[in-house]
Amino acid sequence: MTDGEMDKLKQKQKEIIEQINEYQSNCKHEHEELKMVHNGSMSSLKVTCKDCDILLRYPTQEETKRYLNNEK
Ligand SMILES: [Zn+2]
Repeated sequence: MTDGEMDKLKQKQKEIIEQINEYQSNCKHEHEELKMVHNGSMSSLKVTCKDCDILLRYPTQEETKRYLNNEK
């Protein structure tokens, strides 16, 4: 891959990230979703917006328990 190609890809990536940011800031986050997020070898349960995938908050103990029970 040449330098020029990488620059183009990075530019495209920047545009996509900006689009995502804009989408997320316009989203009302009306639909919450409990989701297991994997980050390398770590995985943690998070409450995300179903529409824009933003991290809204961390689940309560009760929500975590319910999620894990439903998983089985
Ligand atoms: Zn949202």
